Parts: sequence; C-alpha cells; structure tokens
Amino acid sequence: MRFFWQLFFAALVAASPALDQSSVNGCKSLASKFQDRVVYPNSVAYANETAAYWAQNVILQPSCVFIPRDSNEVAVAIPILKASNTKFAVRGNGHMTVKGAASISNGVLIVLTNFRQMTISSDSTVASIGPGLKWIDVCIWIQQYNRVVVGARYAPVGVSGFLLGGGISFLGGQYGWGANSVINYEVVTAEGKIIQVNKTSNSDLFWALKGGGSNFGIVTRFDVQTHPTGQIYGGLMTWNQSTVDGAVNALAAFATPGGGIDDPKAALLPNVAIDPASKTQSAAFFGFYNDADATVLKNFTDTASLNLAKVTTYADLIAGTAAGAAGNFRAAFHCGSFKASAQTVKLINDTVTRDAYKNLSDLEGVTISLSIQPLAKSWFDASRKAGGDAIDIDPSAGSLIVLNLVVQWKNAADDTKIATWSDDILAKLSEEAKKLGLGSEFIYLNDAQEGAKPFPTYGGGKSRARLLSIRKKYDANGVFQNLMPGGFKLGD
Ligand SMILES: Cc1cc2nc3c(=O)[nH]c(=O)nc-3n(C[C@H](O)[C@H](O)[C@H](O)COP(=O)(O)OP(=O)(O)OC[C@H]3O[C@@H](n4cnc5c(N)ncnc54)[C@H](O)[C@@H]3O)c2cc1C
Repeated sequence: MRFFWQLFFAALVAASPALDQSSVNGCKSLASKFQDRVVYPNSVAYANETAAYWAQNVILQPSCVFIPRDSNEVAVAIPILKASNTKFAVRGNGHMTVKGAASISNGVLIVLTNFRQMTISSDSTVASIGPGLKWIDVCIWIQQYNRVVVGARYAPVGVSGFLLGGGISFLGGQYGWGANSVINYEVVTAEGKIIQVNKTSNSDLFWALKGGGSNFGIVTRFDVQTHPTGQIYGGLMTWNQSTVDGAVNALAAFATPGGGIDDPKAALLPNVAIDPASKTQSAAFFGFYNDADATVLKNFTDTASLNLAKVTTYADLIAGTAAGAAGNFRAAFHCGSFKASAQTVKLINDTVTRDAYKNLSDLEGVTISLSIQPLAKSWFDASRKAGGDAIDIDPSAGSLIVLNLVVQWKNAADDTKIATWSDDILAKLSEEAKKLGLGSEFIYLNDAQEGAKPFPTYGGGKSRARLLSIRKKYDANGVFQNLMPGGFKLGD
C-alpha cells in the first residue's frame, strides 16, 4: 500500500508543470533505489520534514525529501543526484536563518533525521555523535560520564551546522571553537566515497572542515574529544525596562580587560531585547562559570531583576535554554565583529536601539535581540593550541565582540524592509566602529546573514585560497558548490 502512495505522489510530482525536470528525475531515481526513504508532497513525513526549521521564513517546498538511514545510503545517493544533475540541500537541525541554506525548492532535500548515534570510548574521552542530533540530546546523555562536549549554548541547536561553522560554546574560552574538539569526521564525498578525516588521514580536509561549512561533503559522523565536568555556576538572569541599564553596564565592564572576559572559565550568552513598537528594552542573559564560583558574574547577579543562576551541572544549564526552540515567527541573523571594549558594547546598544525605535516602530510583531558575544583572546589561543582551523583568528589582535543581531518579525510583507534595515544598521555600526578604532573584519558563518562572505575574513584573509584548493581536490566538479548551492559557499 505504501509503495502505491509512493508511486502516486511520484506521478503527481512528475505531472506538475511547475517542477524542474532534473529534480523530478532525481527524485524518481532515488525512489527506485530507496523506496520508502523518499517522500513526496502531501505525505505526513514530507510535511514534518519540510517544517522542521527554527524560523518560518526559511521553509521551502522541495520536490521530494530523502531520509537516508546511514552513510552508505548517502554515499549511493550523491552519484545518483550528480548523474541526474539534480540540485539538493542538506539539513542538520534547520537552525540556520538563511533561506535555502538547508532547504530547497525544485530540488531534493536530504535530511539527517536518522543520524542520531551517540557512543563513547571506553575511557570516555571520545564521543561519536550523529549530525541529526540536537545539542541537548548530547549534553544530557554525556552527563552520566561526568564529561562535556564543546557544543552550542542553546539546547535545540543542531550538532552538525554548529560544528561545521565553528561553534560558539560556553566552554570556548578554555577549548576554542566547538570544531577544535572534533578529532575525526566521517564524510561522504562528491564521488560518493565514505572517508575518515583526521589529523593523519586527509589532514588538509580536516583543517578545512573546521569552519569551512558545507563546501566539502556531507558529514555523517563527528568524533569529538570530551572534557571533564563537575559543578558549574550559571543560569538565566533577566532585567526589565527599569533595570536594563544594569545589564548593559555589567556587559560593558565584562568586556574590559580584567573585567571577566579574560577568565577562560567565564562565558556569557547575552541578549538585549529591543521592542521598537513600545520603544522599550529588556535583557535576558545566561551567565556561565566552569566551576562552582559566582564571583566573575557578580555585576550581573547584583543588578538582575530575576536571577536564576546557581551552582548546577552543565546539562542542567543547557536544558534551561530550551526556550530558544522553534516558534511561529520569521527571523534573520546578521553578524559583525568588533574589538572588545566597554565602548563597543555601548556603541552597539545605543546605535541599534536608537535606529530601531526610529525606523521599525510601525511594523507589527518585531523584536530585535542584540547578542553581544564576548570571545576572549584565550579562545583564539586555545583554537591554535588544539591544532588550528580555517577560521584562524590571530590571538595577538586581542579579544573580540561578535555581534549576532537577531531580528524576529511577524509578517512576510515586512521581509524586505527588515532585511534592508538590518543590512544598513550593520554597515553603519561597522563604519562607526572603524572610525573609533574598534573595527574587526571577522564574520562568523553561523551567525551571518544571506549574502555575507565569511571566508575572505578567515585567517586575516589567508585561509580562503587554501580552502579553495582543498575544495578542488576533494570536489573537482563542484558538486557541493553548484548542485548544493545553499548557504555559504567558497565560490571559485
Ligand atoms: C536559537 C538559536 C541558537 C543558536 N545558538 C548558537 C550558539 O550557542 N553557538 C553557535 O555557535 N551558534 C548558535 N546558533 C547558530 C547555529 O550554530 C547555526 O544556525 C547552525 O548552522 C545550526 O546547525 P543546524 O544543524 O541546526 O543547521 P542547519 O540549518 O540544518 O544547517 C546549517 C548549514 O550546514 C549545512 N549542513 C548541516 N549539516 C550538514 C552535514 N552533516 N554535512 C554538510 N553540511 C551540513 C546545511 O546544508 C546548511 O548549509 C544558534 C542558532 C539559533 C537559531
């Protein structure tokens, strides 16, 4: 019966004049090989898989969805898609806010939903985790071994996109990017081969995958170094409209040398929320210290209207961030970076807030969240010490603030206005910062907006040429550039 429906929907797709012929052929070829792992519009599985994104505005309608069971099936699928010249997209957990990065129209969507393996080595130092997992799955599972992995701060974020773009964690001051803890990648290449990528085997690709995103292949397993954990201090702190200055001042003090940023065990996930309609601000920060010690967060805990920070476990802390789960909203990230200082924090807060009050107050359901993320010099030192990566920020330039400007809004009719405003305010902010000697070129791929070019900013401009030559070696025909066009691409 199920096969009948597969044929029925395949026929439906084939009959639709709006559909691109190569994607119809690609779906048919995949379905003839994998039957019930290829699903079509009007099936429940298709509806579920195509809706599994954090933000509504990135959702597209692929010609079919392929739900492989394992890496062998991915390895068979890629040559099929190549032979039929079918465009495709790959989705980990759908958190990237760039339309078409992990979704596609007129093409095949490959979802990694079944890649949920979690195993640990006998000495608990290496965890093998699947690209279909969310970080909360990994954090809760690994707590039983008294270990942590360098994963996202928000519970629902996907393991794979996070690790391929770098990965900002509460643990970064000690261990660098999440990607710096990956010791082996299992990758399906453009030729449909399954290869192991580590510091001795395919070592050039090993470097490139640490920040290089979706340019090289489909990662079907990450083997990551785990780290010991005990009690930590952390949790949510919030400020209302009347106390919000306390949050901004505490963050400014933290970003100043000696103010907390240079303590590798300290981290923050700060969000200053701007409501342009009511012209008000509030703030919600997660504070973190990798020990049972609250001292470095005192400026925050003393001023917060509500302080839920406490001595707890890492898994508990991450579980508390689950409120960042998907919702019925449209959203876009924009990323800029700056030299870390109190002045930078104030500049970002004042410039964006003033402009949003002036230009966005008439739009319905808009909130802006300023995630003014301090990344310490110790972070960039730790990244190099761990073997380096394509991002390669020079520690001698000091600590950075990486801004993630998150705009959420209600109406599709406002998409263009929001995109233009976000681009303009980011450009204005970067220009002001440069004038004040606070500028930095770095663009963090996982927080970047559609059209941004993170790779030319890697390694102070030196990484891209090496990334390109590695890409040409492993994907000479540009399958992951042209047939899988979404997201951040190296280009030629
Ligand atoms: C609420 C929220 C909180 C966040 N918190 C953090 C945070 O704390 N730290 C941080 O650094 N970032 C954070 N991010 C950003 C996040 O890291 C990126 O959105 C990341 O891409 C998410 O991974 P994903 O698997 O969910 O993404 P997806 O949207 O599924 O994929 C992102 C990109 O990676 C590609 N891709 C995914 N899996 C694979 C694979 N296995 N092989 C090849 N290509 C693949 C996709 O094709 C796509 O181009 C957050 C985002 C949101 C929305």
